[in-house]
Amino acid sequence: MICKKLLLVATVFYSSHLMALQIEFDYRFDTRGFFTDQLTGAPIVERRQLLDVAATFYSGFTDMLNPITSGVGDSWSVSIVHPSLEGGLANPVTLVDEFIPQDTIKIFVGGSPSAPGVLGFAGRGFDLMATGSSQFIQTVANRGQTGDDFGVWGGYIWFNSNNSWYFNEDASGLSPGNPDFLTTAIHEIGHVLGFGSADSWFNKIVDGMFTGINSVASYGGNVPLDQFGAHWAEGVTSLYNGEFQETLMDPSTPAGERQLLTELDYAAFADIGWEVAVVPLPAAFWLMLSSFFALFHYRKNKIT
Ligand SMILES: [Zn+2]
Repeated sequence: MICKKLLLVATVFYSSHLMALQIEFDYRFDTRGFFTDQLTGAPIVERRQLLDVAATFYSGFTDMLNPITSGVGDSWSVSIVHPSLEGGLANPVTLVDEFIPQDTIKIFVGGSPSAPGVLGFAGRGFDLMATGSSQFIQTVANRGQTGDDFGVWGGYIWFNSNNSWYFNEDASGLSPGNPDFLTTAIHEIGHVLGFGSADSWFNKIVDGMFTGINSVASYGGNVPLDQFGAHWAEGVTSLYNGEFQETLMDPSTPAGERQLLTELDYAAFADIGWEVAVVPLPAAFWLMLSSFFALFHYRKNKIT
């Protein structure tokens, strides 16, 4: 009997662990050397590891996401901007019958040189299509999440390789002029997960303010947004580790600074429809998901 009880405990623990959101980064379109050495084809490990660190900020999201598995009669496709902008914005890539594991989203990543000031952009693609059983079609659309919940297959992130990025988990070496890669990666993943892009985000905007119940409770009122309704308004602050800082999901981050998800940022993910659970310190990490267009992240041009 004791053995059975121990087994039960072990099984429960294992199950709950499986429900943590997994983010799988896919480098097949990293064709211009941002995450892959162009000469040798070897991974640029420090950069890829930082993406995995960024993903852990969403590992407290406990939604169950059905796997997307194509089969006889079940097929799906989606088009995304090429993550390394091969052929430019007007040359999308169409993914067909991509396998997406349970509790996992897949994000295609890459980079290319662009105008100074832009850090990156992200989206979930367009022309999402599915044919087959109604269950399969539902899974492609929302991963089995229903009602006001939210689920997504994944998306893409492009990074501007013209920046003098700071590639280190340890923020102590950050200096003015160097945008923090980890900060930008966490921000862009947030857009893939629906911040500023999900239907369940937009349907809570009233008169240019976000009215999600968790966000209002955290902020103390309706939260001001940027002109596109895609971010908090520039400079909105909230608590991080008990102290006020600029939110990560406002439109920009000053070069040379690290910003992480604040209480208000996580509250918005709960409002979009994610099951946001607190994970152990040093930071409380929650999560959410969503929509279908690109969102740009800019750097502030600060003199100091
Ligand atoms: Zn953004």
